[in-house]
Amino acid sequence: MCGIVGYAGREQAAPILLDGLERLEYRGYDSAGIAVLSESAGLQVKKAKGRLKVLSAMVDGGRSVDGFIGVGHTRWATHGEPSDVNSHPHSTPRVSIVHNGIIENYAVLKEKLQAKGYSFKSSTDTEVLVQLIEFIQKSKNTDLLTAVQLALREVIGAYAIAVLDKDNPDEIIAARKSSPLVVGIGEDEFFLASDATPIVEYTDKVVYLEDEEIAVIRRGEKLKVVNLKNVEC
Ligand code: GLU
Repeated sequence: MCGIVGYAGREQAAPILLDGLERLEYRGYDSAGIAVLSESAGLQVKKAKGRLKVLSAMVDGGRSVDGFIGVGHTRWATHGEPSDVNSHPHSTPRVSIVHNGIIENYAVLKEKLQAKGYSFKSSTDTEVLVQLIEFIQKSKNTDLLTAVQLALREVIGAYAIAVLDKDNPDEIIAARKSSPLVVGIGEDEFFLASDATPIVEYTDKVVYLEDEEIAVIRRGEKLKVVNLKNVEC
């Protein structure tokens, strides 16, 4: 289990994400990645095996990626070797996810999706979750929050996740169970991280999510926290 960061606000997200990942380097990792969303550039996903500086060079310190909202990850592989393709974020054409933890029943969920025609690029448990979220969005015609809630109700295991949806460019949905996740609240901006280290320099207003709580982070709105059954916490 390694690091997660997220940002939604008025600043360019990528440099803040890279800075946050650097502050989580002490935890150890084998690869790193970011996903940043903007209406003009769409969903931009950059990731690579190896040190954070490899990723940072790939995106010119964050300057070649545009958008005010994004998520980042340092991976400690549990399912699938350290490689570019197994690095996070994992994405469908529409949805992108970063995940710390282990989806214990990923094999059963993967078989179910394969039977419906889904195929997988990586060997990770995480890609199964992102494909499941998009499958629910499409088959039940739900928004991202509902799809994440329904998907997590099928998951056995530990997770801290942060999810972006290309069709909702102002939103991050973040959830946790048995793996920590913290939301920092600034002035018209939100920070997200798997521990408070990357957040403290920006704000001292932090919310520690409890197990099975979901943070609904929307630019320009107040933070909302709900559970898997959509009851506000
Ligand atoms: N189980 C996931 C993977 O192997 C996440 C590992 C982590 O927590 O970094 O990709």
